[in-house]
Amino acid sequence: MSIVPPPRLSEEGIRQFTPGLSGLTLDALAAWLAEHGQPAYRARQVLDAVWRANPATLDEVTTLPRPLRVALAESFRWDTAGATEVAIADGGRTEKALHRLADGATIESVLMHFPAGPGRRERHTLCISSEAGCAVGCPFCATGELGFSRDLLTAEIVDQVRWASRHLATDGLRLTNIVFMGMGEPLMNLDRVLEAVAALNDPSRFGLGARHITVSTSGVVPGIRRLTALGAQFTLAISLHAARDSLRDVLVPLNRRWPVAEVVAAARDHAAATGRRVSYEVVMIAGINDTDADADAMAELLRGDLAHVNLIPMNPVAHTPWQASPAEALERFAARLRAVGLPVTIRGNRGQDVGAACGQLAAERAGEPAPAAVAWRRKRLEQASLAALRGDPSEVVDAVVARSAR
Ligand code: SF4
Repeated sequence: MSIVPPPRLSEEGIRQFTPGLSGLTLDALAAWLAEHGQPAYRARQVLDAVWRANPATLDEVTTLPRPLRVALAESFRWDTAGATEVAIADGGRTEKALHRLADGATIESVLMHFPAGPGRRERHTLCISSEAGCAVGCPFCATGELGFSRDLLTAEIVDQVRWASRHLATDGLRLTNIVFMGMGEPLMNLDRVLEAVAALNDPSRFGLGARHITVSTSGVVPGIRRLTALGAQFTLAISLHAARDSLRDVLVPLNRRWPVAEVVAAARDHAAATGRRVSYEVVMIAGINDTDADADAMAELLRGDLAHVNLIPMNPVAHTPWQASPAEALERFAARLRAVGLPVTIRGNRGQDVGAACGQLAAERAGEPAPAAVAWRRKRLEQASLAALRGDPSEVVDAVVARSAR
């Protein structure tokens, strides 16, 4: 049975949701407790229950008196992102959770398990969503095809982490890394993403070191600068995909607003301020962005930077005519970047058997787009990418970008 995606919600509509307890700071919680005649030490107890004990329900928090639990339940939600479906892939190394939110919107988080290796500890990395859908509309992305529903609340972002922590704790395990690379453009939901990052990093809440938190962006320059201004050593990942503006305008429509040189300049400043190398992500698409000319343009753009490049073969999605670059193309591309001293990793795809592409599972649950719409989009993309490969940002490109941004 297909599910109709919820309508796009205004900011006012989002504010009408009952807030999640995990979205509160210590000060906000203390103020609420004081208004309800509670002693100051209760604030610390409630936060410990939310972030440390983290049981599945508020009823299980027996450190708090029952009347207080009832009062909290009347004003706040304990869990705003309960997982309704979990798909397991890669022999248990990848777990993809579909979270259904209060208004029926669905988002995804992906938990990836990496065994210990030579000189490397075991890792459990969670990839989380920051928006329901996405307005950027990158044509190779299943989330982009869904369109944009709404920004997530701070609690809806961090409750994906609380769900994964609870899930891991049943096996005596802990989350080691969090990446904002799920559905949505994190820096378009900037205030709430920065609140979530602060909560995850705060030693009195989740307490994960800044170096273990990666915020990814397709290039929202003011957002990068605000992240840098936080001063902590958060890792920045840039969804680069192409170094030439004419091609990046097609692959990442936001490039029209902040061209690649501006994005890389902001990323360089982040690296200089934090001492952390910037991670550049490149989804590799056969015959589109994997040519020698594209490798050389990228090498030239990033030469000498504190940077690391990840090449990721594209996950096929229905509405594009494109396919993943073959292994030889990935190796050739990587070699040209390494030749100028850039560290490069060729990544494997995780969880292809459960709709691994960002947004793919949610897109499936939202129902298939009409065949005519898929055919139209494929045709326009073929025309746009051909034009872009000629270095010609033509009207065709404008048409695709305009439609993608809707
Ligand atoms: S790749 Fe990221 S920024 Fe682009 S449409 Fe998908 S979710 Fe949005």
